[in-house]
Amino acid sequence: MNMMTQLKSNALFVDQFGRGKRKLRISVTDRCNFKCVYCMPEHPEWMKKHDLLSFEELYQFCDFMVRRGIEFIRITGGEPLMRQGVVHFVAQLQNLKQFGLKRISMTTNAHYLKQYAEALKQAGLDDLNISLDSLDASQFKHLTQKDLAPVLEGIQAAQAVGLPIKINTVLMHGMNENQILPLARWSVQQQIVLRFIEFMPLDGDRKWSTEHVVSEQQILETLATEFTVTKQGHGSAQTTSDPARQHFIDGHPIGIISTITNSFCGTCDRVRLTAQGEFYNCLFAPQGLKLKTQIKALTLKTASSEVNLHDALFTYIWHKEQGYHAIEQRLKNQSLDKSSRKISMHMIGG
Ligand code: SAM
Ligand code: SF4
Repeated sequence: MNMMTQLKSNALFVDQFGRGKRKLRISVTDRCNFKCVYCMPEHPEWMKKHDLLSFEELYQFCDFMVRRGIEFIRITGGEPLMRQGVVHFVAQLQNLKQFGLKRISMTTNAHYLKQYAEALKQAGLDDLNISLDSLDASQFKHLTQKDLAPVLEGIQAAQAVGLPIKINTVLMHGMNENQILPLARWSVQQQIVLRFIEFMPLDGDRKWSTEHVVSEQQILETLATEFTVTKQGHGSAQTTSDPARQHFIDGHPIGIISTITNSFCGTCDRVRLTAQGEFYNCLFAPQGLKLKTQIKALTLKTASSEVNLHDALFTYIWHKEQGYHAIEQRLKNQSLDKSSRKISMHMIGG
């Protein structure tokens, strides 16, 4: 589909490589009670509360996007359970299921999950991704500056109310690669789906380097010392845009998100919005598109507010780059260093 064909259609945002956008990630806050080494800067400068979009504005934006083909919304952060009103937001998003929204998900560090699991289930949340980087309490504290126990209790609470969960583990060399086998055993025992994530250059203090990355290959080799490892291919038949490459250990599914060594960008159907209304067509885009004014205008429900937002979005989405490696190459060619990328994971939400 070329740009002119897309102009005629209000149905689905598509980029120049023909990748339609069906997944939207909304970061509702950049604040977090954890300080994960691979994410949070040592001295975070939080977004000002008055700069954040309200939940009503975020809802209007989600409504607008669902009417243009978004089928999956993931609520993230910072820590989404730290923003008051997030459960009500989940409940409000249910209205959009009549317009094509299929799933509402959340990514959380699970610290507060014990107290919120029941309410999230009641609000209609479909599933949760939970970050868990170590089963060793002192290592967990070293990685996050917080205790492991509330996270394990949060996982149990989610299971007790019947919320489907997946566990995300970011691996870093010299930090927690010794957790590959303990976490794999635990996931088999608990019958929970685990996904290992390669460390990406989106940490707040820009300390990332390739030496810190534990590659998919290294993860598989470690798993093979104890399990029979088989491979399914990239994604499943249902969700070929799944960033996790699917493997099995003794028949139990295990995913690996290998952005650095096997980028999944070719089928990327995701777009993202930060809590203060900056829109990103890619996790690695050096710059976002400031949409706060246009999103606030949506609440006025004038015809021009929708047209203005639509025009800004489709041009920006159309120009989405090919992927992580293409962006890195361009920055290198232009002699721009990694500090030219202003966004980090705690703002964009993963
Ligand atoms: N606070 C929530 C949590 O930790 O689940 C949601 C936000 S967090 C930014 C979303 C996901 O990004 C988490 O699974 C986290 O492990 C992952 N993440 C953060 N920094 C990362 C990095 N530099 N490389 C890879 N994944 C990262
Ligand atoms: Fe907080 Fe999540 Fe970042 Fe950890 S990964 S510091 S829990 S936002």
